[in-house]
Amino acid sequence: GEFTLKRVQEYVWEMPQEGDMRVPARVLASEELLSEIKEDKTLTQLHNTTQLPGIQEYALCMPDGHQGYGFPVGGVAGIDAEDGCISPGAVGYDINCGVRMVKTNLRYEDIQGTEEDLVNALFANVPTGLGGGGVVNNAPVEEILERGVEWAVEEGYGVETDLAHCEDEGFRAEADATAVSQKAKDRGRNQAGSLGSGNHFLEVQRVTDIYDDNVAAEFGLSKDQIVVLIHCGSRGLGHQVCTDYLRDIEQTHEGLLNQLPDKELAAAPAGSRLAEEYYRAMCGAINFAWTNRQLITHQTRQVFERVFDRSWQEMEMELLYDVSHNIAKKELHTIDGEQKELFVHRKGATRAFPAGRPELPPAYRDVGQPVIIPGSMGAGSYILRGGEQSLDETFGSTAHGAGRLMSRTQAKSEYWGEDVMDDLREQNQIYVKAESGATVAEEAPGVYKDIDDVVTVSDTLGIGDKVARTYPVCNIKG
Ligand code: 5GP
Ligand code: MN
Ligand code: MN
Repeated sequence: GEFTLKRVQEYVWEMPQEGDMRVPARVLASEELLSEIKEDKTLTQLHNTTQLPGIQEYALCMPDGHQGYGFPVGGVAGIDAEDGCISPGAVGYDINCGVRMVKTNLRYEDIQGTEEDLVNALFANVPTGLGGGGVVNNAPVEEILERGVEWAVEEGYGVETDLAHCEDEGFRAEADATAVSQKAKDRGRNQAGSLGSGNHFLEVQRVTDIYDDNVAAEFGLSKDQIVVLIHCGSRGLGHQVCTDYLRDIEQTHEGLLNQLPDKELAAAPAGSRLAEEYYRAMCGAINFAWTNRQLITHQTRQVFERVFDRSWQEMEMELLYDVSHNIAKKELHTIDGEQKELFVHRKGATRAFPAGRPELPPAYRDVGQPVIIPGSMGAGSYILRGGEQSLDETFGSTAHGAGRLMSRTQAKSEYWGEDVMDDLREQNQIYVKAESGATVAEEAPGVYKDIDDVVTVSDTLGIGDKVARTYPVCNIKG
């Protein structure tokens, strides 16, 4: 479609409100990123999003935006939690897909020469791939759904301080296991502590650049330090929750659906039974995903212990932070000078709260939360901190990655997995191990946009400020 986009200021483009739009829309992007965003259905989906009942201020697209199911990946919508609605497609199928970073006190030189052993040991001990099999088999799904990371800590898969370094302390109290179908629970039972396939990964990285010395020191990051980035979500369990509620909402709220331009935006009116149930089920899937990343953290610590022959405590393998990028949350935001409770939908977008927000753990309350933005297995990734402008501009959000440039099918026709791995190893000393070559082709560095450009937009607009950059050392994929 053809949309008029007015340049409001550098990196801010506005789609004025007209016709059935309830609010204007905004795209945060450089000219080049904008031209990439225009290549697929992102702008049409963003335009559609402005018609959701109760949407506030603007429908937003982050600089890494691309098309998704009904709602762009990289989309943010703040919707009135009393008179608006909640939309599963605006959360995403992989509920609480997200990333966490585990720090170490190892330096790059400590692990050079060990990369191959490390990547093999990680691959052997962290369950990957499409099927079943997790760190915990026949896991007590109900308990995980309702207790989150606290369950894992109690079972010895983590320590108390892990909780404080996880968004929402790794626990959404609204979770209700009875709102999650048996089918969803069955899908999760043997996937607790597993990466899954495709875009999910575990990457050992080294810190290459520090942009803000003070904040980096607060975060415990320094040049040449080894860190581990874990990216995965709620596996089949979250996918099933999304599927179940989309179907129920489509059937029960046909009236609202008929007013929307795309069936994929199906939404439950705030206060309805399905809105409440979906929220409680989603919170359960959120708890499951956090626990999933915690179990993988436990495995990672054990692998490091074996490969480097000392305890993980000696290696100071503490969590920097765990951030979600497919989520909806009831949050208070200031709209026209008044405090309002919103369902903030972030799909392919990361919370980026600045200093002062009460949700932040004590360690980050005076500095702003760590925001972790992966780039690709051949490029850098970034650690930002929540920016002062984020609450005014983006409901406290920023980007979640570089964002895809091309479809998986196109990627497989352009790249050959084995070649990609050989090049990375020979030219960049990056060791990749994957369940299938096709996955590596689908995730080749060239299928992603320029992470530096994405982060420049975030940093310049003050929604997420650059703190440090990392570069891959080794990487495992499903
Ligand atoms: P998504 O959650 O949308 O699948 O992906 C999040 C982001 O992760 C992508 O936009 C991409 O920039 C990044 N990414 C994908 N694969 C890798 C990888 O192997 N390593 C790193 N560091 N980033 C990746
Ligand atoms: Mn993700
Ligand atoms: Mn995911």
